[in-house]
Amino acid sequence: MICLSSKDLDPLYESIASLYGVGPTVAKALERLAGARLIDLLFHLPSGVSFRREIKSLKDAKVGDIVTFRARVLKHQLAGGGQGGARQPYRVYCRLDENMISLVFFHGRSIYLKQQLPENEVAIVSGKLEMYKGQWQITHPDHVGPLETLLEWVGYSPSYPLTQALSQKVLKRILYGVLRKVPELPEWLSAQTLKWHPEWKRWKISLLATHAPKTEADLMPTHPARERLAYDELFANQIALQLVRQFNRRQGGEAKLSQSDLYERALKILPFELTGDQKKVLVDIRADLAATHCMNRLLQGDVGSGKTIVAFLSALIPIESGFQTAMMAPTEILARQHYEVLKPLAEQLGLSIELLTGKGRKADKEKIYKAAAAGDIQILIGTHALIQEELTFQRLGFVVIDEQHRFGVDQRLRLSQKGEHVDCLSMTATPIPRTLMLASYGDLDTSQLREKPAGRKPIQTNAVSNSRLIEVVEGVKRAVSKGDKIFWVCPLVEESEKIDLAAAKDRYEFMEQHLPGQVGLLHGRMKPKEKEAVMKLFTQGILTVLVATTVIEVGVDVKDATVMVIEHAERFGLAQLHQLRGRVGRGEKQGSCILLYDTELPDIGRKRLNIMRQTNDGFEIAEEDWKIRGGGEILGLKQSGLPNFKFVDWTLHQDLLREAVLDAERLVEADPLLDKTPKGQACQNLLRLFDKEETIQYLKAG
Ligand code: ADP
Ligand code: MG
Repeated sequence: MICLSSKDLDPLYESIASLYGVGPTVAKALERLAGARLIDLLFHLPSGVSFRREIKSLKDAKVGDIVTFRARVLKHQLAGGGQGGARQPYRVYCRLDENMISLVFFHGRSIYLKQQLPENEVAIVSGKLEMYKGQWQITHPDHVGPLETLLEWVGYSPSYPLTQALSQKVLKRILYGVLRKVPELPEWLSAQTLKWHPEWKRWKISLLATHAPKTEADLMPTHPARERLAYDELFANQIALQLVRQFNRRQGGEAKLSQSDLYERALKILPFELTGDQKKVLVDIRADLAATHCMNRLLQGDVGSGKTIVAFLSALIPIESGFQTAMMAPTEILARQHYEVLKPLAEQLGLSIELLTGKGRKADKEKIYKAAAAGDIQILIGTHALIQEELTFQRLGFVVIDEQHRFGVDQRLRLSQKGEHVDCLSMTATPIPRTLMLASYGDLDTSQLREKPAGRKPIQTNAVSNSRLIEVVEGVKRAVSKGDKIFWVCPLVEESEKIDLAAAKDRYEFMEQHLPGQVGLLHGRMKPKEKEAVMKLFTQGILTVLVATTVIEVGVDVKDATVMVIEHAERFGLAQLHQLRGRVGRGEKQGSCILLYDTELPDIGRKRLNIMRQTNDGFEIAEEDWKIRGGGEILGLKQSGLPNFKFVDWTLHQDLLREAVLDAERLVEADPLLDKTPKGQACQNLLRLFDKEETIQYLKAG
């Protein structure tokens, strides 16, 4: 059992709002910026550094300098109406050496300012020097205060990312208080790791160092202090994943072995030969099922790579051993599609298969509940309806989660917990770069379908300058006359949905002039009914061109669409382009894709379009995208439960990840519950720092 002895860390988990002298406005701002707890503030790192020197005379300074000095306060001039009716700000006239300098405050509060800058006394002022009408001045000094504050305002000082209603000054005052509470913790890094990285200091020293930069180089992710923190983060993440992985492995499963010829019969009735990749994946899955641990496998494969049939064939083995299978899809449409595709196969094999979604009559649902509980349904396909409490199984042994990133972890668990030792196959069409796979799904085994089913030709892709729009339209007309169907995608830029919509409407009208009565418009503001109606006309071939905003990404399946035109392709990410392109060429006919680009194409855009022309392989595209953007936004990734790293910079820290994986494996092997060795116990603190206690709770419960 793991018990967290890390009392030392408790103070860091208090809320910022509970600190003395932090009001609700500031607490809210900090929460928005960094998080609600002290630890979150500690992990809010500076993004800049400046040096403030003390000047004794203005002869030593120039406009724009950020300086600190002792000022003799001469006179306060309250805000008020000035010459020509202009409203004058509050000014405090001071003397520095032989010069006059005025401090300017808009909306300055006289009581406060008189207190900080008493007339005829010397005060400390720090800020950026300006010149106005030949006179020195500082508008809104960073600091004004008594003499004893001098040292705080001379020397190096970091600057932090800010948010509304928060100033550097306030943030630093609070943060520096919190930094004093950082405890010394026992080292969790292995001797080996420390030997590899002699420049790394202990955790506390590293954390304090990141908050005390002296040069720009100290702010870089490659600085030893930041690198060590990044490693800690990766290490914590990997330990958590490894703990779960080992735990799942130890959780005995039931060996599910082929006990009849069901699987072989199924192969014979398939209307096609399996691809090499499909066969390979099935070998892996069958090995998992036969083993005495639970399967937890993620199957990745582009849209159209044939995941459904792999899931179906996998399910046959548990079914042969007397188990039931549940297959969950994120939408009604998808669930129904699976059901309709698999029903004829199941029936030929003499298996009972049912569909359960949120829709339908209560009586029908109850019939399904009864049958599932009695073990009369062997394959149950459905939506979220499958995780409802009313549904129970007699003996659930296998679960398939389609488009797994659309479900939360708890939803997936809730389904598999309807049985004992349930084997689980998750599926996704989002190609995820290798690095991210390691970082986020290290607890799962993975398989990939890269090979396209036979007969599917790669989509031909061309990049064409916008200036040749008319040629493209002529090409579209020719394709239509040969019976092709065309998607025409206009980009949607979030900030101005209205403008984009207008652009799509314009394009629609433009195409309508060329192909009267044959063009449809599809966009996100339409009601589902309206969308369905347009889609239906397109499927039936009454409409031949469908002008759409990116809404077609989701759930549009028109088998015989052949041409995809993407306007302003340079505005899309690679993964997005790839998914859009995957919408065509799904039937017999050769598919093609035209990427229209702006004549002033930036380098990165040119790179992307080239990659699109060169390959149809989603995995390759994901890797390239990752390289170009170093992380960035990959379609569907946001919702996929990928961890949000605070210190890790994927362009620079990839090698650290590999090390962390090995380190974590070694650790968890030696001390599976982190309670046997001092290192293991030290790692409990590490896990807590990065909010991985959940993992430990989970293991405790199991
Ligand atoms: P996805 O991976 O997107 O879920 P599907 O499972 O829906 O893909 O498969 C897409 C299409 O390819 C289906 O019509 C399916 O019947 C077909 N298919 C699957 N495997 C093969 C194969 N080995 N040969 C030919 N067609 C296949
Ligand atoms: Mg699918």
